[in-house]
Amino acid sequence: MNATSDTILNRALADAPASDELATARTSINSTDRIAPLPAGAINVDIDTLRDYAPGYGFTYDRSVDPVYQSALPRFLELLEKLDVPATLFTIGRDAANERNRDVLRQAFAAGHEPGNHTYTHPRQLSKMPRDAMRRDILEGHDAVAKVAGREPVGFRSPCYDVSGDVLSILDELHYQYDSSVHPTILGPVVDAVVFLKSRGKSREWRPGTYFHMLAPLKAYRPNRRSPWRSDGNGELIELPLSAVPWSRLPFYGTWLHTTGKKVFDKALSSIRRSGSLMNFHFHAVEMLDLSDPGVDPRFKVHPGLATPLAERRALIEEVILNLKSAYELVTLAELAERSRDNKASKNPSGNSGEIS
Ligand SMILES: [Zn+2]
Repeated sequence: MNATSDTILNRALADAPASDELATARTSINSTDRIAPLPAGAINVDIDTLRDYAPGYGFTYDRSVDPVYQSALPRFLELLEKLDVPATLFTIGRDAANERNRDVLRQAFAAGHEPGNHTYTHPRQLSKMPRDAMRRDILEGHDAVAKVAGREPVGFRSPCYDVSGDVLSILDELHYQYDSSVHPTILGPVVDAVVFLKSRGKSREWRPGTYFHMLAPLKAYRPNRRSPWRSDGNGELIELPLSAVPWSRLPFYGTWLHTTGKKVFDKALSSIRRSGSLMNFHFHAVEMLDLSDPGVDPRFKVHPGLATPLAERRALIEEVILNLKSAYELVTLAELAERSRDNKASKNPSGNSGEIS
């Protein structure tokens, strides 16, 4: 697409893993002049639209071009390009199939960002759907994203982290390399309660199936096909859980960042880095939305962070990405899954925890 895009893509290719260690990556020289490898980590962006958020606040919203695509996503891509960081973009098939979104997506995937499948319709309770409907939604999401990206997605994120054994078995059928839907924090029930209160009691979106995620490993693992948060599974599929703070299991992602601030982020980052747990930091494209952008319904001011001026949020996101970049070699999730697989190519031995990085 352009020089910077080529840089991201070429670097990803040139930096293909040469060793069997997940931690082996780009090297840096520390104060004692020894070569120290940076562990690999990933940042990714869920491109949920205002249409997807509205039901959580008890109303509906639909526009032919959603402000998240029109205004927020281009800002995110511009920042990633400026910082020369590749990301995985979890894209909803319905939006990929909308030709008015095609240019921005094509440009992003041509720049080296990884296309990820985020279902076709973004159902808020995927795990409760009949298996046929669930399969169709995942498959149609796959096809729509593949068509706009020009290559097949190999990774999946379930809407609202609502992943189940059935979802994983469908990903097996599609020969996916990884799932990244398990969010191992104590936040699940809290978020459900907050959404319920903010919707003034209209939301009915309880997801008790995900509450066990707080018990999941904080490293890449082979997920159990009945209980995705358990690491005693077999098969090729790798679970790349989202990052969380060790022990406390407090969350560690964009939306939380805008609620708690940079100091909490700094402490969490050093704790995660020290513990050697997986760095899988996710943003939502809406974090770059301004309430004054064309078409934005003012009722979205209740969404976490959106009441903060955009300039402030953008500066914080930039600082956070730079911090992550100095602590990790940032790669796509597909690359991270590949390195995890190389790290322990053998299947889960019986009696082992199944954690592979
Ligand atoms: Zn989503």
